[in-house]
Amino acid sequence: MAFTLPALPYATDALEPHIDKLTMEIHHGKHHQAYVDNLNKAIAGTEHENKSLEELVKNAGKISPAVRNNGGGHWNHSFFWESLSHNGGIGTSGGLTDAIKSAFGSVDEFKTKFAAAGIGRFGSGWAWLIVKDGKLEISSTPNQDNPLMDVAEVKGTPVLGVDVWEHAYYLKYQNKRADYLAAVWNVLDWKKLESRFSKA
Ligand code: MN
Repeated sequence: MAFTLPALPYATDALEPHIDKLTMEIHHGKHHQAYVDNLNKAIAGTEHENKSLEELVKNAGKISPAVRNNGGGHWNHSFFWESLSHNGGIGTSGGLTDAIKSAFGSVDEFKTKFAAAGIGRFGSGWAWLIVKDGKLEISSTPNQDNPLMDVAEVKGTPVLGVDVWEHAYYLKYQNKRADYLAAVWNVLDWKKLESRFSKA
């Protein structure tokens, strides 16, 4: 039962001008596809073949680096695409917005801290907004790790994950990771994030 690349929930140009079409085509069609293909290769004929993606990710520390990296890559990217929308933005009211204000002081303060986590991640990785022990927290992970993994420094239930690998922004933003992170706020599917938060 091999894993497959999920279709994007919108067109590749839907997030323009914040995330450009060519980046989306390559990021989804080539990078994410490669994680899926390499994950399938890594689990073929092993005890992991019939496990769910969540099960593999949660036990990342007990499985091979190939399964950890490509399983994480598949989970993280699937989660990322679902976090974005052409009708995007940060909600001004509601449960998640209120919780952000109470955890970080204000929405602006949250954006500053989240951006700092993404910019501060040396090399490749992800910035996360998670629920940990009933509270919102910001964290980051290296490579394709995520907060569900047993190996994560800060574990929790992800509400938002933003890819800060250069392949996520280099074509449009070159070395300016901060500019890319500032643009992502315009394309967040806040309803989706609200629903994740209310379930967490
Ligand atoms: Mn990526």
